[in-house]
Amino acid sequence: MAVERTYAMIKPDAVTNGHTGRILSIIQEHGFKIIGLKQKSISPAEAEAFYAVHRERPFYASLVTFMSEGPSVLLVLEREDAIKKWREAMGATNPANAADGTIRKLFAESIERNAAHGSDAPETAAQEIQFFFSASELL
Ligand code: ATP
Ligand code: MG
Repeated sequence: MAVERTYAMIKPDAVTNGHTGRILSIIQEHGFKIIGLKQKSISPAEAEAFYAVHRERPFYASLVTFMSEGPSVLLVLEREDAIKKWREAMGATNPANAADGTIRKLFAESIERNAAHGSDAPETAAQEIQFFFSASELL
């Protein structure tokens, strides 16, 4: 498996609840190198564009409101098989189904307010990294 990059976010629920430090520790314990990191309040327009793939879903408007309600921590993570390994570390979308020890099991409030995001494929990872980071911000 090649070294690859994924795009990750600590979502507004987890930032507001004070879980940023613990989640960053878990990221490093899982062997990810942090290539990009910033805290930012995502605008409603950015949240709409970022989650445009879910435009037709009943939860879309609520998801956009949630993702723009406060600061998120935006991250570019690198390791071998990063996309799959980060999704495993986050756990299932719905925390009720997330395995013990995963970030969503530990920190998510609900299926919507689920503490973390991770890209789902190499193409989406590349798009999402570019959406929030310029090349000079990747160190
Ligand atoms: P993400 O893309 O944020 O990493 P995911 O890939 O596990 O999460 P998706 O199906 O892409 O899940 O859904 C995107 C986000 O939309 C979820 O992380 C969650 O915040 C929200 N969401 C998904 N399904 C529901 C639902 N049934 N009700 C409310 N919110 C939902
Ligand atoms: Mg997704």
